[in-house]
Amino acid sequence: MLTKLWIDGGPVSALSGRTYPVVNPADGALLAKVSEGGAADIDAAVDAAVKAAGGPWSRMTARERGRILLKIAGLIRAQRETLALLECRNAGKPLGDAREEMDLAADTFEYYGGAANKHFGETIPVSGAGLDYTLREPVGVCGLIVPWNFPLVIAAWKLGPALACGNTVVLKPSPETPLTALALAKLAAEAGLPEGVLNVVPGPGPGCGDALVRHPKVRKISFTGSTATGTGIMKEAADGIKRVSLELGGKSPNIVFDDCDLDLCVEKSVWSVFYNAGQDCCARSRILVHRKLHDKFVDRLVARTKRFVVGHPEKKGTQIGPVISHRQHSKIAAYIASGKAEGAELLCGGVRPKGVPKNGFYLSPAVFAGADAEMRIAREEIFGPVVCVIPFKDEGEAIALANDSAYGLSASVWTRDVGRVLRVTRAVQSGVISVNTSSSVHLEAPFGGYKGSGLGRELGLKALDLYSEVKNVFISNV
Ligand code: NAD
Repeated sequence: MLTKLWIDGGPVSALSGRTYPVVNPADGALLAKVSEGGAADIDAAVDAAVKAAGGPWSRMTARERGRILLKIAGLIRAQRETLALLECRNAGKPLGDAREEMDLAADTFEYYGGAANKHFGETIPVSGAGLDYTLREPVGVCGLIVPWNFPLVIAAWKLGPALACGNTVVLKPSPETPLTALALAKLAAEAGLPEGVLNVVPGPGPGCGDALVRHPKVRKISFTGSTATGTGIMKEAADGIKRVSLELGGKSPNIVFDDCDLDLCVEKSVWSVFYNAGQDCCARSRILVHRKLHDKFVDRLVARTKRFVVGHPEKKGTQIGPVISHRQHSKIAAYIASGKAEGAELLCGGVRPKGVPKNGFYLSPAVFAGADAEMRIAREEIFGPVVCVIPFKDEGEAIALANDSAYGLSASVWTRDVGRVLRVTRAVQSGVISVNTSSSVHLEAPFGGYKGSGLGRELGLKALDLYSEVKNVFISNV
């Protein structure tokens, strides 16, 4: 297991000599002591990335860069089991989910490996006498800052397009989940990525992440995390006019009309909020249900929720693992208490399930009914296995409730009425909307948020625009 920073092509200790403990959320046991990056390490990593930007990497063709990304994908697949177990132990996710995430990370490198030589400029028929064309050029050193809920996947979403476009990067994983990012750095070196192109510096937000954001030689910050942190990053990045893209929080609505396929809707709805123990920016944590269907829907939802198997992530059959940390566990428990205090009715869950390992951070999935839109549990992102159900009287009220949020990341609509589908998908302010399903992410399609949920769109070919500058060239023919 790699536990040191990865700078300029190899593992190095933090300049301070400090390490910090990383624990397994399943049982609270020490998993690793990881070097703790600070501002001086960020300086070293950025220097390595600046140097690499002028090295062999800058002379490679797009096709050559793409081939390296394809090799990284192949190595992730070859190491799938080892990486999945590492992610499972570090992030507390069920092993089967971790395996799927390794596949998605590999798919992402493959997609952008193929895309590297398919992102190009255009010729433009300007009125001057000559030739006008655009070039796509790398932005420069990119700082990539990622959270703990999908550690390798979100890193891949940023690394794929950043490297395909020829940038060099400093990746700062979340301090809770640095292990697969460090493993990836080694695989990337094995795949032929020149030294200094990918540097990985685990460390805290204040003292490490903020040093990356402020660094004058970093030209772009791509951040995934909370809206509060993203707001601060956007302000900091104003100095030096750094490019910024932000994937932030959500409080996504799941809008259920009374003509839906109820069986399918209930089955998908529970997964759309409780997958990954609810630690998902797209979690459909507000279920808005037509009042005619409300009671029947709630009965079915509660019965289905009670059937989830919560337990040790390495145990066969586990569907929901622990949440990431004691801190997150306490935060979620405080939201559950606040929901009860504000008068919502807790119909199931929200407690430590029986039979789970003693020191792990487990919570059974919780369903609140009788919630109203003003309650904290209905407005704030809980980032845990908690859902609230709110009735609506008609389509207009459903849309108004859906949009009554500071966020706008994902939404689902359940109905068999095509006209309603067209009206509601247009009216809901959300970067991603799924109809009669709960999917949020397709590697080939743009992903990102309206309003407080972010800025810019990751994934798909559009993501390449986030990591390249457009240069317009005009050549006179006189
Ligand atoms: P967070 O904002 O606390 O931290 C995210 C990352 O930013 C971590 O690496 C952290 O160390 C770093 N960081 C913290 N303060 C910083 C600072 N001042 N400067 C630079 N870096 C700093 O978020 P989290 O608790 O790790 O993750 C949960 C949040 O992430 C939730 O709000 C969730 O919705 C959001 N999220 C969004 C998406 C998306 O795609 N929209 C995906 C996953 C998670």
